Amino acid sequence: MEQVRAKKFLGQHFLTDESIAERIARSLTGRTPNLLEIGPGMGVLTKYLVDDTRYRFKAIELDSESVDYLHHHYPTLDVIEGDFLRLDLNSIFDNATFSIIGNFPYNISSQILFRVFEQRGSVPEVVGMFQKEVAERVAAGPGSKTYGILSVLLSAFYNIEYLFTVNENVFNPPPKVKSAVIRLTRNEVQQLGCDEKLFVQVVKTGFNQRRKTLRNALKPLNIPLDGIDETLLAKRAEQLSVNDFISITNHLAQQL
Ligand code: SAH
Repeated sequence: MEQVRAKKFLGQHFLTDESIAERIARSLTGRTPNLLEIGPGMGVLTKYLVDDTRYRFKAIELDSESVDYLHHHYPTLDVIEGDFLRLDLNSIFDNATFSIIGNFPYNISSQILFRVFEQRGSVPEVVGMFQKEVAERVAAGPGSKTYGILSVLLSAFYNIEYLFTVNENVFNPPPKVKSAVIRLTRNEVQQLGCDEKLFVQVVKTGFNQRRKTLRNALKPLNIPLDGIDETLLAKRAEQLSVNDFISITNHLAQQL
């Protein structure tokens, strides 16, 4: 019983269809030889990566039972037992850049993506499976109802592609929702051309009350909105492009 309860927090839904695992592995464009898999579980995806000589491959898995299984079935695999969210990411590949792949634990999807955003300087590519709703949200553009904080933050630094949808019945146990695979590849942007901390704050605050116009939604920032284009302030956050948010951020910075 304890065991079952503990495992619930691991978001374990094992993929049973190998052709999908292979398709996920093939979706990598190989931007860097260093590759980290998050949550390999019983290794269905790992199988298509571990012997690929193009990669220097490592995996991180929180569940000790899965780690034992992986050691046994993939003796050459370098598997770190631990929590991806607590891992010192730069130490894994000696400060070199690395890509991330996985059929991710869905209970920490957003946290994984926020970490990618924070580590954008070291992570040139991410290929992975999320619950469909999260995948759609990340891949959405301005004007879409699902466009949100992660869409803006990630699309500022990554090209985001929705690759394909995956049905519930190819997992054991089947999740309650459909899944989807997306690919994030780092764009050319090194600096946004604004105070990036303030940018994050503006995006978060704008979407916090997403049905309000920005004029109202940004009030909690307590910064005068002087000089910001009236047509932007009359819009809602979900209608704004990354560049619109940058422009607003630059105006606000002048008031500080
Ligand atoms: N990739 C496997 C398993 C997917 S289920 C497959 O496709 O079949 C998600 C996996 O992530 C589980 O094995 C779970 O134990 C692991 N996991 C959950 N939280 C984690 C964390 N914080 N860090 C690393 N792995 C985690």
